[in-house]
Amino acid sequence: MSYHINTKCLYGNMESRKTEPTGAISYPIYQTATFAHPGVGESTGYDYSRLQNPTREQLEKVVATLENGHEAVAFSSGMAATNALMELFRPGDHVIASDDLYGGTIRIFNHINRKNGIQVDFVDTSNLDAIIDNITENTKAIYIETPTNPMMNVTDLRAVSKIAKSNNILLIVDNTFLSPYFQNPIVLGADIVLHSGTKFLGGHNDTLAGFLVLANETLTEQIRFIVKTTGAGLSPFDSWLLLRGIKTLPIRMEKQQENALVLAKWLEQQDKVKSVYYVGLPSHIGYQVNKSQASGAGSMISFHVDSEQTATRILEKVQIIQYAESLGGVESLMTYPMLQTHADVPKKIREAKGINERLLRLSVGIEHIDDLLDDLAQALHD
Ligand SMILES: *Cc1c(COP(=O)(O)O)cnc(C)c1O
Repeated sequence: MSYHINTKCLYGNMESRKTEPTGAISYPIYQTATFAHPGVGESTGYDYSRLQNPTREQLEKVVATLENGHEAVAFSSGMAATNALMELFRPGDHVIASDDLYGGTIRIFNHINRKNGIQVDFVDTSNLDAIIDNITENTKAIYIETPTNPMMNVTDLRAVSKIAKSNNILLIVDNTFLSPYFQNPIVLGADIVLHSGTKFLGGHNDTLAGFLVLANETLTEQIRFIVKTTGAGLSPFDSWLLLRGIKTLPIRMEKQQENALVLAKWLEQQDKVKSVYYVGLPSHIGYQVNKSQASGAGSMISFHVDSEQTATRILEKVQIIQYAESLGGVESLMTYPMLQTHADVPKKIREAKGINERLLRLSVGIEHIDDLLDDLAQALHD
């Protein structure tokens, strides 16, 4: 029997209902580092929590189900997941990445992976010819965010998947911005899906987490070996927080998206707002492609205001919306990408993308829409 995603978020791993001995409705936190063996050469299935822990395993099964993956592996943060992912490659390997990415991803590519001999080229992946032109005999992967952070560029995942498959290249998609509720890249042909679980999946701005969802057994075995060896698996307590957060993913995503669309339309009407980037607006350049591959537009909005003064004034005057890094949680947060998420991106590259002193990014939460509108209005106009 197959279930809707709303039901899967609650009961994702139906198997555990039969095997959990107490019938606990909330899956228990197995706060243990190690497990006793029933006999010599025997195992309960659990030996040591770096390899696997029942609470983490429960979470991994739920996330794999939501993304239609073969398996999911849970990490202590999104960047820990990216770091483990990049251990798939060796010196001389080449990766093509979207040219607008989460700043921490650009930092790990440029400062950690490059030092280890992995060459990453950043291209506009919404332009398929740009991808094809950059493929070399050493290209092992294409790494995509769609929509991108913070400019909300959209890449056609089905089309890129065809290019990847015909060249024997892995397609990796960071699906943090839409979450599995709105987009399932594996169904569209991706080999690996990455999540910062800190964001929508956790949903409450209370813990860090990351995921790799693998489309097949070979990749699963490789990533399991890497997590067991390098040790960045998610702790039992944090795994439980993620299980708890995921239960309300669908209603949070719907509400946050509903609020975001109202705010995006309102922002478009304001004199001091020069452009609004939200994939749910028909005026957005990626609107059609996003609509063809995702069931929603999420709740991330970026916008350019008329001046640096206006940008800093908004950040200082918002009362309900808070000026903080991160996104995807129930609380609305505003960031200044230039100074926060993208501070480490070289100025020239940053500005060419539009990440300048006039750009703000808003992660819309579940507050009452009138309070959000009033808050933005007083910050913009008073
Ligand atoms: C936050 C984020 C990451 C990194 O995740 P952490 O949990 O902060 O380590 C990666 N990709 C995207 C799109 C993000 O927003």
